[in-house]
Amino acid sequence: MSYIQENLREIRRNIAEACGRSGRSPDDVEIVAVTKYVSLETTRAALQAGIGHIGESRAQDAVRKWNELGDSAVWHFIGNLQTNKVREVIGKFTYLHSLDRLSLARELNKRGEQDGIVTRCMIQVNISGEETKHGLSPEEVSDFIEEISSMRQIQAVGLMTMAPYVDDPEETRWIFRGLRQLRDELQRRDIPHDPLHHLSMGMSNDYQIAVEEGATFIRLGSTLVGDERS
Ligand SMILES: *Cc1c(COP(=O)(O)O)cnc(C)c1O
Repeated sequence: MSYIQENLREIRRNIAEACGRSGRSPDDVEIVAVTKYVSLETTRAALQAGIGHIGESRAQDAVRKWNELGDSAVWHFIGNLQTNKVREVIGKFTYLHSLDRLSLARELNKRGEQDGIVTRCMIQVNISGEETKHGLSPEEVSDFIEEISSMRQIQAVGLMTMAPYVDDPEETRWIFRGLRQLRDELQRRDIPHDPLHHLSMGMSNDYQIAVEEGATFIRLGSTLVGDERS
């Protein structure tokens, strides 16, 4: 068995346990393998190990991998996306996890109209309040969704957040819970929005807590495919 298969097996077991603790079905949690720190070959090995979703965070690397492996996975753009890079990535990525400003939404919509492409977006929210984190403040999200609801070429399918790295992941629980509560609140309101089903939250260090709190996409890099930076 490859090391990625071994990692995957353990991760799936951990997900099942976290789901057991929280009354969820493991079928509702999708693993996105974050391949930003590994080669094309390792990315290919991840697909062979049974991974179906790939996440990349830099346009140049992402497009290079997509050109080779595009058809064999569902692609997620998870990093900060510069508006002038939209042209390069649109249509290649089914999901964008980091929609955090109107200028980016407008560009996705405009390019999408030209090419007949709908991008499924998660709105990035800065729940932790750390200044270094991207994302809208929780208070801004409702107005933002109203503004983008008229843009036909983007669909708001959920929310995304990042937690700070801490030694004890239990300390991140409030952040994941906060994102879920915000999602639930937005769904209850009668704003003309798209499904807002997904919660993209949890990384190598804290995904078990995120799953307990409702994550539907977990973004796993080092614990799944490793880190090949020297
Ligand atoms: C790098 C990255 C990840 C994966 O990080 P790991 O800690 O290696 O699992 C997840 N999400 C985003 C947005 C990232 O940039």
